[in-house]
Amino acid sequence: MDKAAGETIEKQQQGQQHTGDLMQSDERFRALVTATSDVVYRMSADWSVMHQLQGGGFLLDTGEPMSDWMEKYIHPQDQERVKAAIAEAIRTKSMYQLEHQVLKADGTQGWTFSRAVPIIDDNGKIIEWFGAANDVTARKHTENELHEAKDAAEQQNRLYETITSSTPDLVYVFDLDYRFTYANRALLNMWGKTWENAIGRNLLENGYEPWHAEMHEREIDYVVANRKPIRGEVSFPHATLGRRIYDYIFTPVINEHGEVEAVAGTTRDITEIRAAENTLAESEARFRTMAEGMNVYIAMSDETSNAIYFNQTWSKLTGRPTNELLAYGWSNLLHPDDRERHLKVYRTAFETQTPVHDSYRVLTKNGNYRWLLIDGSVRRYSDGSFAGYISAGVDITELKEDEQRKNDFISMVSHELKTPLTSALSYVQVSKKRTTENNDRLTAGMLDRTEKQLGKMTRMINGFLNVSRLESGKLQIDPQRFDMARLVKEVEEESLVSVTSHKVVFAPVEETWVNADQEKISHVIQNFISNAVKYSRPNSVINVACVTIDNHVQVSVSDEGIGINEEDLPRLFERYYRVKDTETRNIAGFGIGLYLCCEIIKRHRGNIWAESVVGKGSTFYFTLPVVK
Ligand code: ADP
Repeated sequence: MDKAAGETIEKQQQGQQHTGDLMQSDERFRALVTATSDVVYRMSADWSVMHQLQGGGFLLDTGEPMSDWMEKYIHPQDQERVKAAIAEAIRTKSMYQLEHQVLKADGTQGWTFSRAVPIIDDNGKIIEWFGAANDVTARKHTENELHEAKDAAEQQNRLYETITSSTPDLVYVFDLDYRFTYANRALLNMWGKTWENAIGRNLLENGYEPWHAEMHEREIDYVVANRKPIRGEVSFPHATLGRRIYDYIFTPVINEHGEVEAVAGTTRDITEIRAAENTLAESEARFRTMAEGMNVYIAMSDETSNAIYFNQTWSKLTGRPTNELLAYGWSNLLHPDDRERHLKVYRTAFETQTPVHDSYRVLTKNGNYRWLLIDGSVRRYSDGSFAGYISAGVDITELKEDEQRKNDFISMVSHELKTPLTSALSYVQVSKKRTTENNDRLTAGMLDRTEKQLGKMTRMINGFLNVSRLESGKLQIDPQRFDMARLVKEVEEESLVSVTSHKVVFAPVEETWVNADQEKISHVIQNFISNAVKYSRPNSVINVACVTIDNHVQVSVSDEGIGINEEDLPRLFERYYRVKDTETRNIAGFGIGLYLCCEIIKRHRGNIWAESVVGKGSTFYFTLPVVK
């Protein structure tokens, strides 16, 4: 064997030796890879064919070359990524490496981390790829869960941030070493600090005064020890707002083992609330002092007409404590004769929401009655809506008694005057007759005037007697059916005789039947006419009419007299009310005529009123229901 041939043989032997080593190491390598990997695979140079795959239970095994491996093993979502990574590995002839989703042997989706190295021949050409892959499904799931949990935590954090940053209240959390682990925007702003230089620091480090820090630390201790919230109020100077008052609550944060792991707190600035409370308390105190200190009966009701307050003066009068007055129902203490009337006034007030003015008798603790004059004003809520009434009452019993005595006196005087007056009148009438017979015209004329004056006096005295009868409830109404046309005719005939100073014109009246006290209605018409005479120039015209409107007969008496002011109009029908001006000053009267007329018409369920133009004249009206 020549040297060259010998060398060749040696080379060949060496080559065989080399190939053997290589194969040996390749196998070892494969064994190692197989032992440490879940999957091993072999791919053609261009990855179009998979020669072999040992799936290790994770992926389906195959011994046959297959070209549709991509569809079989790679999750559709990741196929493009895998293709791209392969193309890159082929181009650079370097390791293929990718984490992607696969279709597992059991048909479910899984994750794998796959690597493949190119096997390259001496010419630098890729012969095939040898790959190994691991099942990373479990890790991937954990990672995903972690990711989701993190997302959720972040979302929750954002939520808390939003909530706590939009409240003016201070929100914070302490750890057990009294350090702030959370402070909301409002608190950071109050401190004038940023999150970074405030969180992780304790109270002192965040600028609290030692006494203040000490106080809160003891409170944190208490919350931790007792696992119970604690509430407090503290006042201290704010950097820009001056001295403020704060109300705070510390609450334990309990972990899953039932231990306190932190202390959460909220603080509210209550300076304004306190100030408002103080103002309210002050005005309340002032109101009470006034309500209790004076001898005035103060009461309040809400918008639903329930009594909500009685002052001590009420209790003293009735002998009942306030709560009993409210519960018992003050209305039961009203005099039976006043109760219904006053309750009507009271109810109407709530309907119309207008001021109340009324008087009534109240049962006292001594069992007798006292008169109270009550003025009720409307209360309103701050938005202007109706809130009920506040009423102030004064005791007018003495006044009422005086008035009663005065009435009794007038009644007695009138009564006593009536008898001599009647006899004087009859003497005058007899004397007049005799002097007329004796042709003593002068004396007859004087007696005639005396008779007229005595007649006037009788009417006045009758007026007073009627008032006192009315007031003591003795004014009787005797209704009977009669024709208004006939009554007006009678009045006309009478006035032809009695009124010579004015032209009284009666409009024609149709037959109209009413059920009324004829004498009293006649009295009302005569009163209207005599007023028209009194308050207008001699020779002026007075018109009397009687018409039917809406089932009511309406009588009117118009004059061309002095007229009445608008302010006086509604008061004309009050007892003793007289207009006070230069024109009426010298006209005699007591202000009881219209009062009596009004009471008479009211008792007939009719209406009475007046219309007037100052300087032009007045018209007085009344109506009565018509009967068939
Ligand atoms: P008196 O006439 O006695 O004063 P009245 O009760 O009849 O009492 O009238 C009350 C008041 O009404 C009178 O004082 C007068 O001022 C006014 N009054 C009544 N009738 C008329 C009228 N026709 N014209 C103007 N004023 C009148």
